[in-house]
Amino acid sequence: MSIYEKLGISPLINAAGTYTAIGGSRMSEKTLSDMNEAAQSFVDIRKLQASVNKRLAVLTNNEAAAVCNGAASGLYICCATCITLLYKKSYNYLSKKQIEESEFIVFRAHRNPYDWGLRLMGVTVKELGFPNIIQAATAEELEASISEKTAGIFFAYSAPHGWIADGELDLKSTIAIAKKYDIPVVVDAAAQLPYKENLWHLTKDLGATVALFSGGKELRGPQSSGLIVGEKKFLDTFVQHNFPNYGPGRMLKTGREEIIGLLSAVEQYIAEDTEKRIQWCEEQVQKLIAFAQSSTVYDIVKSFPNEAGQPIPRAEIKLTNNQNLSSVVELLAAHKPSIYTALERGLLFVNPTCLYEGETEIIIQALNQIQDKLK
Ligand SMILES: *Cc1c(COP(=O)(O)O)cnc(C)c1O
Repeated sequence: MSIYEKLGISPLINAAGTYTAIGGSRMSEKTLSDMNEAAQSFVDIRKLQASVNKRLAVLTNNEAAAVCNGAASGLYICCATCITLLYKKSYNYLSKKQIEESEFIVFRAHRNPYDWGLRLMGVTVKELGFPNIIQAATAEELEASISEKTAGIFFAYSAPHGWIADGELDLKSTIAIAKKYDIPVVVDAAAQLPYKENLWHLTKDLGATVALFSGGKELRGPQSSGLIVGEKKFLDTFVQHNFPNYGPGRMLKTGREEIIGLLSAVEQYIAEDTEKRIQWCEEQVQKLIAFAQSSTVYDIVKSFPNEAGQPIPRAEIKLTNNQNLSSVVELLAAHKPSIYTALERGLLFVNPTCLYEGETEIIIQALNQIQDKLK
């Protein structure tokens, strides 16, 4: 009996993607063994961070890098860093009033349920534009909103056709204005991999001050890890506020196992052949499409790009009788082993990104078995 079954919980086959609520992603054997080794000895955490951060900067072609315990909490410490740079005085010594008076500019279309890092810090969040495509924020609007109290600009980056409304001011234009006023641009790029080039493209090529990536999604590092890359000056200040130093980052602990695990995962990710992985995903989608061709119940087509605009093909499952797809989700969940899928705007996808060899066949078997119940 597995560790989960002993607890009365069924392990899931993840056909949905890098969803944190079911564990995000799977670490490789190499990452797990590196973490295991890291756990055996004590080490000076500050020295470990300095060395790992330097290595991560080299690996990702950035001036600097740092490990945090997730992209969302990284945003919180970035926010403290921006306020420190605004007042040229450590966040730890600022008054509540000073913090509240500092301003963060955010496009309404970029607001998301991960941006508690801004809200919790208690800064004034200045929202621009609208969360739809009717009237996007313009460069003039952004420029007019900048004041001497502006600590930073938050930018949620998404590849085209991802989750940001079309027509929004792009990152390049945002950075051009920010640079004019020397204001940091903090980019949430948590789920913007592949392509791995994004690890340096947003910062080194486009000029964002820093970009945040989730360690536990596409990078396949520890769930409670995050990677921040970008300018050295900013990240030197970030590190001062990060764990293990006392300050806002102290409650966001990243253990030595996670620090080593993230480094190991990034090393493997950089070395990985992305095209080969995308091709593997394509093959899984084609297997599902081929299966549907012999079925009168399912209609399966390829969908591209995925929900975050990443170049990962997915299989979109439809029922030929147009019945409600939630019954498919329920029946797949009830299958043994349980298969996790989720409806997205009423559509049902199989996302191969978290599947292992052989799991597509299990999904096909399950789809085959539940057919009669869907007629
Ligand atoms: C997942 C995600 C986050 C949070 O990343 P964590 O590493 O889980 O903290 C932030 N923003 C976006 C857009 C995400 O998809």
